[in-house]
Amino acid sequence: MYGKLKEHLCQTLSEIKDAGLYKEERIIESPQGAVIAVKGKEVLNFCANNYLGLSDHPRLIAAAKSAMDQRGYGMSSVRFICGTQDLHKTLEKAISDYFKTEDTILYAACFDANGGVFEPLLSEQDAIISDSLNHASIIDGVRLCKAKRYRYANANMEELEKCLQEAQTQRFRVIVTDGVFSMDGNVAPLEDICQLAQRYDALVMVDESHSAGVVGPTGHGVSELFDTYGQVDIYTGTLGKAFGGAMGGFTTGRKEIIDLLRQRSRPYLFSNSVAPPVVGAGIEAFKMLAESNELHDKLMRNVNYFRDKMLAAGFDIKPTQSAICAVMLYDAKLSQTYAARMLDEGIYVTGFYFPVVPRSEARIRVQLSAAHEIEHLDRCIDAFIKIGKELGVLK
Ligand SMILES: *Cc1c(COP(=O)(O)O)cnc(C)c1O
Repeated sequence: MYGKLKEHLCQTLSEIKDAGLYKEERIIESPQGAVIAVKGKEVLNFCANNYLGLSDHPRLIAAAKSAMDQRGYGMSSVRFICGTQDLHKTLEKAISDYFKTEDTILYAACFDANGGVFEPLLSEQDAIISDSLNHASIIDGVRLCKAKRYRYANANMEELEKCLQEAQTQRFRVIVTDGVFSMDGNVAPLEDICQLAQRYDALVMVDESHSAGVVGPTGHGVSELFDTYGQVDIYTGTLGKAFGGAMGGFTTGRKEIIDLLRQRSRPYLFSNSVAPPVVGAGIEAFKMLAESNELHDKLMRNVNYFRDKMLAAGFDIKPTQSAICAVMLYDAKLSQTYAARMLDEGIYVTGFYFPVVPRSEARIRVQLSAAHEIEHLDRCIDAFIKIGKELGVLK
């Protein structure tokens, strides 16, 4: 049998290659950080989700080791059989405190949090109204649930309102949105979303994966930015980005919702507990953020510095309130050539083009971090300018 499948797979793989969409993985030979080693060469990293620079932070490494010394390596169990340690409860409490919510449930990843949030809460009688640019895991989670689906164009409040009107016959309505959208770095208009939710009697769910730790005066996410505390019913998020970057996800929000998820959410019930070192480092990350806003302040200084200099140099940059900065090039091939030349200059950035972004909206995405020093930013900006001139992007 495999012979036939193999033929089919080879065909598909060569189609992917012919379309120029085959993904090669670059091998990093160092810890994650502002400076990484790739093929024996040091390059500056501008494409990690390491927003607060915690991925290689000594305090998190020490906390992971200490948790491993005190609570072992693995749990060998799901939470409800014998996979819950005191550490898991401490981390859930720390996340609830951070988001000012009532309770939190941990998952192996935010992909699982989103995959397991809709099906236990909603049925055929209900409606999920989803932003068209929401993350793949939200789309998959929605697919696993029988609720009626509505979709509105990215951050388009007129379309959202129409969906809400159409969904009035359903029993419960949930509006679901990413907090920050990963390609443009734009923030969801949560104030407007919450107003519409109130007017049309809907719940609100926000995926904070790219926004938590980043947006808001002290980085606490979308509700801090828009002062929508108490109006968002469900947040999901990851420990794999700003909060240390290892792995692990969570859903946090209203007490009864979290309680039911512990009873019915399949990725929680049928998947292993998050490992003690990851949980220990997670606790330390939230402790650090409670002690001082230094890392978030530095991230914001870096974002503003980079944006100001790039705009002054004449680049076309999408407006952003996040740590994602889209340098628009509008040409797929140019985005790839540009990124490859940047790597020659020792700067690691990623070029994105259709189908990841709309046709004719090719760009280079730059992700800033508190791990970057001004000197790193200057080297990145200088390389952008040098290659921009070389490729005719800048005059
Ligand atoms: C990264 C991301 C996820 C997935 O998080 P993991 O913990 O890595 O599974 C989910 N949603 C959004 C919006 C993301 O950006």
